[in-house]
Amino acid sequence: MQFDLSPELAELQLSVRKLAQERVAPRAREIDRTQEYPQDLFEVFVDAGLTGLCVPEELGGSGAGILGLTLAIEEVSKYSQTAALMLLLTRLPTGPLLIAGSEELQRRYVTPVATGEARGAFGLSEPQAGSDVMGIRTRARPDGDDWVLCGTKCWMSGVRQADWYCVFAKTGPPESRAHDSVTAFVVERSWPGVDVGRVDAKMGVKGVDTGELILDEVRVPAENVVGEIGGFRLAMLGLNSMRPIVAARGIGLAEGALMYAVQYVKERRAFDQRVSDFQGIQWKIAELASEIEAARLLTYRAAAMADDGKFTKEFVPYLSMAKYLATELAVKVSGEALQMLGAAGYMEDHPLELYYRDAKQLTIVEGTTQVQLGLIARGVLDHDLWWD
Ligand SMILES: Cc1cc2nc3c(=O)[nH]c(=O)nc-3n(C[C@H](O)[C@H](O)[C@H](O)COP(=O)(O)OP(=O)(O)OC[C@H]3O[C@@H](n4cnc5c(N)ncnc54)[C@H](O)[C@@H]3O)c2cc1C
Repeated sequence: MQFDLSPELAELQLSVRKLAQERVAPRAREIDRTQEYPQDLFEVFVDAGLTGLCVPEELGGSGAGILGLTLAIEEVSKYSQTAALMLLLTRLPTGPLLIAGSEELQRRYVTPVATGEARGAFGLSEPQAGSDVMGIRTRARPDGDDWVLCGTKCWMSGVRQADWYCVFAKTGPPESRAHDSVTAFVVERSWPGVDVGRVDAKMGVKGVDTGELILDEVRVPAENVVGEIGGFRLAMLGLNSMRPIVAARGIGLAEGALMYAVQYVKERRAFDQRVSDFQGIQWKIAELASEIEAARLLTYRAAAMADDGKFTKEFVPYLSMAKYLATELAVKVSGEALQMLGAAGYMEDHPLELYYRDAKQLTIVEGTTQVQLGLIARGVLDHDLWWD
């Protein structure tokens, strides 16, 4: 059993840590205030090669894999969830293409993401169907060699910044819940009938827009089908392989929040001593630090598994546990860290109220906590996770 990172990954971790401290941390508060997409940070990430971490070298990336992206996202999440989401969006929409897309699709859409020439977004959720993926109503009907897509996607991260979208639509009967009735397509932003609708006003992570994508009779060539017709499994494989990457947002946020609070309680005095001298505070620090390390180990293992191609059904509990624990922990630690600062934690003079607002989306996106618990339970019931 090997717990150390390879020298290349350890170097990546250190270099992103430095970049996050120098370039991301100073921008975090302003991004939240202005709610503007930080194009400058995007360019910093492109220059540092971070947009291609999860893309194989033959497609223009660095081939650092899911573990490489996980490490990078953990580092930037210590300061900004907007920055973390920008990096996550290099994998969420490209995932299905990397798993099952043709070489041509990969070259046309994944390579420009790696090089920073284009951005993608991922469209699965619809107003009436989030967790219940089979409830989607976006339709794709065949028309000659093409497909024609109609429907509305919602809550899509990066919808306004994206040049192309990986969207899922019903190719089977609209009311069908059969897994072979859903297919993935790549749709370009500039195509007739593609439009951005409402952009959401949200609680946190305000530098990347979330909103609707409207598809009105959009003609999509057959070569833009990702994988097979009826490949719903692809949506799940893509999401399974993303679990450690979302989890990294959670552990990074938790680490950032706890580090900030620890520095504060070492300075703050009450009852003639430092707040950090109170045993109650020390036990809280110890509890949170232990939970962070546990979630971190689960997350790194999940990332290593995903890089080994272990993101099919039998590995789901291990992947979902990382997402569930790390994101719930982000909510817990940001709340506890804020509490350690007292009133100061509630104020915008300190970043903890921002961490607290940002953390909550993590337990909802890419499969809610309840959905993850269902998946973990299914894995135990089926003995995919069993201890003898
Ligand atoms: C900030 C943000 C960004 C997002 N970005 C994207 C994106 O880029 N692309 C995209 O496609 N989607 C995106 N989403 C949507 C996200 O994936 C969905 O919100 C999520 O899947 C949950 O769906 P829902 O909101 O419809 O909740 P619902 O499915 O309506 O669930 C409501 C509640 O019921 C619970 N619940 C549902 N089913 C079960 C069950 N079987 N057992 C127990 N409890 C259950 C849920 O956990 C939740 O608490 C984003 C959401 C947010 C908040």
